[in-house]
This record gives sequence, structure tokens and C-alpha cells, in this order.
Amino acid sequence: MEKPDIYKVDLKRMASDSVTLEYQMDDAFFGGMEAPGIRKGNVHATVGIRKTSSESFQMDFHARGVVYVPCDRCLDDMEVPVASSDVLCVRFGDAYSEDENEVVIPEDDGCIDVAWFLYEFIALSLPLKHVHEPGGCNEQMMEKLGEYLRVSQDEGDEAFSLPEGEGAEIDPRWSDLEKLIDK
Ligand SMILES: [Zn+2]
Repeated sequence: MEKPDIYKVDLKRMASDSVTLEYQMDDAFFGGMEAPGIRKGNVHATVGIRKTSSESFQMDFHARGVVYVPCDRCLDDMEVPVASSDVLCVRFGDAYSEDENEVVIPEDDGCIDVAWFLYEFIALSLPLKHVHEPGGCNEQMMEKLGEYLRVSQDEGDEAFSLPEGEGAEIDPRWSDLEKLIDK
């Protein structure tokens, strides 16, 4: 997806040594990020940029709002509040590089795309497990899942378990099931 240029910040041509940018990220923003996880959201963010030397900058990211992620149990979207604060150090260098503490951007370009950092900081601030409050799961979905699990077992299918924990791969049969239920 083509991202609007508002996320591309030209550090070489900052109006002053300190600026604050504001972003309102909506479903189009989250849907356009080619990343699994957050499907929709409504988050307001500010990015404060301060020049710390002729070639280095400190960027303060603050995000507040809500995002929607699939529930680990029923797979329905659930609302998760977002409140994150992160600091990113950026400096000019020869080639682009990125590690935990610092991002280097090529000096002849001088631009940094903050869209991915905004997304990543929000995603990292979320709890690893997202499950609806007790009783809050989609019952229709849970029933279908229950039937589906029984059918799978009757067919002597290989062990079928709920995806759990960090980085769990969604079983392809789950996506099929989601399509069935969407109908
Ligand atoms: Zn649920």
C-alpha cells in the first residue's frame, strides 16, 4: 500500500531544532501495514523530534487509543487499549541500519519513515495474550469451534489444539473455519 507522505519525515529540513508531529491512525493505517496482528484501530500519536547534535536526533513516540486484535480463544476481534511511550535515537550515517538503541539513516536522504515505528511501538506495547473477559467471547464462534473439534477428532485427525502463546502459528484449518463462519 502506498503510505501518505505525512509519515515520511525530512530530518534535514526541520523547521526548527524541535518539532512535534501529530498522527491519527485509523483502520486504513492498520489495514495497510503488512503485518499480522493489529487489524483495526483508532490511535492518536505524537512524535516529538529534537535535534541533539548536527547529525543526531531524539524522537519521542507517544500513542494513545484502541486497537483491535483477534481474541486467542474465539478469534473475534477484541478491543485493546493502547498507551505507549517510546524513545528512538536517530543519526545520519552512510547506510540504513537499525538496532535496539539507534536507527541510522543515510545522510544524503535524511528522511525517516515513522509509519513502521509507530506501528511497531504500538504492537510491542500490547499484552502477549488477548482473551475476552469471561463470558465475552463470541458464543456462536465457540459453538462452531466445539463442533469442529469433535468432527476433527471423529475423523481421527491429527491432534488439534488451540493456537496458544507467543508466535503461535494459526492452523490453516482455523482460517477455513473463519471463512465458514463469516458467511
Ligand atoms: Zn473471545
